Amino acid sequence: MTQESLIYELEFDFFFKDLKYFGREKIKGDFKAPIKLDSKVDKINKILVDNKEADFKYENGELTINKDGKEIYIEFENKVSEISLMGIYKSITKDGYIITTQMEPTGARSFIPCFDVPSAKGVFKVNVTVDDPSLDVIFNTDAIEQRVENGRKIFKFRETPKMSTYLLYLGIGKFERISEEYNGKVLSVIAEPGKSKYGRFALDILKELLDQYEKYYEIKYPLNKLDLISINQFAAGAMENWGAITFRESLLLKTENTSFNMEKTIAKVISHELAHQWFGDLVTMKWWDDLWLNESFATFMGDKMVSMIKPDWKVDEEFINESLFSSMELDSLTTTHPISVKVNNPDEIAEIFDSISYGKGGSILRMIEDYMGKEEFRKGIVNYLKKYSYSNAEAQDLWNSLQEVSGKKISEIMKNWISKGGHPVVEITKIPDGLKLTQSRFTYLNKEDDYIWKIPLKVSKGRTQLEFMFEEKKMISLMDFYIVDPNVRGYYRVSYEDDSLDRFLNKKKPSYQEGIWLAKVLDDYYAFTLAKRIDIERFIDIMNRISKLNNYVIIMRLLDIHGDLLSVTDDSYLQEIVLPYTESILSQVEGGNDKNLKVLKERVATRLAQLSKDYRKYLLGKKLESLEPEYRLPYFVAIAKEGKYEELMDIIRKHTDEQDTVRAIQALTTIEEPKIFLNYLDEIKERKDLRANLIYAIMGATRNPKFRTDIWDWIDRNYEWLREIYSGSGYMSFMVESLISYSGIGNNQRVNDFLSKINRSEVKRGVDNGLEWLKIHENLVEEFKKIHN
Ligand SMILES: [Zn+2]
Repeated sequence: MTQESLIYELEFDFFFKDLKYFGREKIKGDFKAPIKLDSKVDKINKILVDNKEADFKYENGELTINKDGKEIYIEFENKVSEISLMGIYKSITKDGYIITTQMEPTGARSFIPCFDVPSAKGVFKVNVTVDDPSLDVIFNTDAIEQRVENGRKIFKFRETPKMSTYLLYLGIGKFERISEEYNGKVLSVIAEPGKSKYGRFALDILKELLDQYEKYYEIKYPLNKLDLISINQFAAGAMENWGAITFRESLLLKTENTSFNMEKTIAKVISHELAHQWFGDLVTMKWWDDLWLNESFATFMGDKMVSMIKPDWKVDEEFINESLFSSMELDSLTTTHPISVKVNNPDEIAEIFDSISYGKGGSILRMIEDYMGKEEFRKGIVNYLKKYSYSNAEAQDLWNSLQEVSGKKISEIMKNWISKGGHPVVEITKIPDGLKLTQSRFTYLNKEDDYIWKIPLKVSKGRTQLEFMFEEKKMISLMDFYIVDPNVRGYYRVSYEDDSLDRFLNKKKPSYQEGIWLAKVLDDYYAFTLAKRIDIERFIDIMNRISKLNNYVIIMRLLDIHGDLLSVTDDSYLQEIVLPYTESILSQVEGGNDKNLKVLKERVATRLAQLSKDYRKYLLGKKLESLEPEYRLPYFVAIAKEGKYEELMDIIRKHTDEQDTVRAIQALTTIEEPKIFLNYLDEIKERKDLRANLIYAIMGATRNPKFRTDIWDWIDRNYEWLREIYSGSGYMSFMVESLISYSGIGNNQRVNDFLSKINRSEVKRGVDNGLEWLKIHENLVEEFKKIHN
């Protein structure tokens, strides 16, 4: 099969009420027998090759035709799924439902028979007929013709550019849109009727971002329309279908209840998906091994572009917390995987949509940009995109493109960061005539490994900055104490010699940037604690000293560390640290003027509502409507902790405001009565319109120490149901990981029973990571016990 010339001509007849459709499909190319198509549609009715009837075999998701030819013609029929969130499925709206699709990674084969691999790009010419003239149809391109004939409405869509099957989109139903023509393109936000007015914020952000991206890439957005579509039941956060990007409602629409944090998140998610319209859609990875390249780039670029249009939003600081720290955490497990990972079969794809592909990859690109210089890096990207437009490329092609413009040996430097799991720790020790630097792999379980990374190291002492490539096991420096990676652009941990670190921690007034650097120190030393390289008392001392600083990144990281520890142990010693800290930070962030403090306010108040009865009393003494959106989640948590569960369930049952629904679910996971919670979970489970939200409830519950016994029973009972909903997305794996990591503490027998019952192959990474976390968490519980002795 040559991939140069695939042309798909598709005609669909949809029977909306019956949730089924008939398809007639022509695929033009140059095909050699046996032709193997991916297909999971219900029934294949007829096949012609070059207009002649052809024998075929249809089994196990594969359609095999034993004939050479230039044109395959297929008649097929298919059902729209009512449960799964992959392929083509039903999504319930307030007044009915829509039919929608999610193709990545392998949903397209449940929609049409096709060559469902990223490298088999094709041109798609699509006509859709629906049996109800009041329905609208959305596709990747715009409709060039619409007419009603015998009560059926026919849509003819503009032919697509060459694209991969996983980027196809089809939506059918009643929609409402706001649109604007901008730079010659029609930009729209599309939602269920009554909600498009909440799309204004998204549409304005989209315009600003589009300008930035076209400038940065030096390539105009390739299609003539771009839709941002809100989908009520959606497995992922958002999906970059070319020209028809889909979102969870809460990640696209801004209502009067949207907090500033969610507003930023909406902008970041739009930006991420927009980055893909070029990087991913216009130039696509050859195979899923390089999925990370798509996701890393969009993660890095998405945030970068938001910080260009909103320079005061502290986006880079949030990147450090959300992408750098969180991916290093996963990458410190011995069970981590290289960024570039061998993918042999499609079942393995879903599991690698993890924070290694997104966060680590993004952080490595951020490090390389810092090493190359921003403009050189940009030129390299432009070079790459222009060279591979409408085709496919591998990671190596990107390194070569970056190398061509910069003259630096990017390929050689990247090699060890990409092909090998984990990351180094740089250890600094004093020797008589200076300092000794050594590098070795860091893992929590201290796995031996002799791998050496090429580390573009930046160090500073006062105003002096030095840059060099650290590519040996060890090196000697004649300098005395300096700080490593002062701008926090690197992807490695640093272990300082005690006296020097203490000297720095005692510094009276560190600058804002030094505060960010100290947040990295905090993160590294927390990791060293989990790895038992330092004892918990030393860590608590460091944490207490750093926590005195009022710095955005430090506060975010501390809140996460506290949250983590509280999920592992309800040790009284810990409570004594967390509560006063949370109280003092709340008063600080409530008093400040910076708008970003709202983000912290929401998180801090939520924590406090969990921990303090007084604060709950204070909050509930106010009227919810009189409070800023930042206080809605804390308020809901207060309601939950005070036992007024039905109030929250009413919000969930009504399900009118998506963000409030999610908040109410999160709040319920903090209660202390597992039986009551699990009854509610049963009720949520029965609601098909909540099936995409169910996962929030389960993930939250696995982290509640009070639920540790009962949640196992619930998941045992419902595992197959969860599989029906989430199979093919990464959620099964994330859920299993969280379940074993937290609910497994003190429950080894349950873990073993569970593992003996499930099919481990589809959640392999989740199980491996979970078991390792479990070990680390149980160590931590022991460490806390020691403090008391
Ligand atoms: Zn993405």
